[in-house]
Amino acid sequence: MEQSQVTFRRILLKLSGEALMGDGDYGIDPAVIRRIAQEIHDLASKGVQIGLVLGGGNIFRGAGLAQGGMDRVTGDQMGMLATVINSLAMQDAVEKCGSQCRVMSALKINEVCEDYIRRRAIRHLEKGRVAIFAAGTGNPFFTTDSAASLRAIEIGAEIMLKATKVDGVYTDDPVTNPDARRYDRLGYDEAIGKKLAVMDTTALVLCRDHGMPVRVFNLHTAGNLVRVVTGEDVGTLVE
Ligand code: UDP
Repeated sequence: MEQSQVTFRRILLKLSGEALMGDGDYGIDPAVIRRIAQEIHDLASKGVQIGLVLGGGNIFRGAGLAQGGMDRVTGDQMGMLATVINSLAMQDAVEKCGSQCRVMSALKINEVCEDYIRRRAIRHLEKGRVAIFAAGTGNPFFTTDSAASLRAIEIGAEIMLKATKVDGVYTDDPVTNPDARRYDRLGYDEAIGKKLAVMDTTALVLCRDHGMPVRVFNLHTAGNLVRVVTGEDVGTLVE
């Protein structure tokens, strides 16, 4: 991929925690994180400025912990800390590939990473460093999808890329319904109204109100990230 082929100069990539698990059912698969880090490094090497938000669902989710009897806010704090663990692992993997990377956390954990400060984040991006935004929004009762929408808008990303395990947004669950159709394009309000499995409503409303396009695509198809950034019609575009 030549630098001139790149359609987007600044992106926000959102990966769920589950994307890091591989075939396991908990934690991080080193081979999987290395493969994703390599794709991120390849993009960064072409001059694409990359902000990254990682989920924490491979370790803890507040809602799940609350179902087990834990205080919800404490559970959400554990979930946010889980995203910091994933972010540190990704920082290590991206730097081993040869790109510079900085984790910036919405919760203060100064011994392990920087605080999230918007102007400093933009400076990192301008210098070609991959910026990983950890600890979600820093508040309980939100998701990392909402954090990704928020950061995408704040850093002035041209597009938010939401990586999933399926090829885009479908009319129904393609695993259980063989007649489910994939959308090429979709309006924010249709996604919200039909409760389609894109992102939670808070995240979608933020993107809608600030005109942030979202492309939902399958990260497990090798080379898809590059295809998206070179402007190919991969997955579903929500706009
Ligand atoms: N979380 C939170 N506030 C945020 C973002 C995340 O409290 O702004 C907590 C919440 O408990 C959530 C967990 O962190 O369940 C992990 O994030 P998420 O479920 O979004 O991860 P993913 O599903 O993307 O792996």
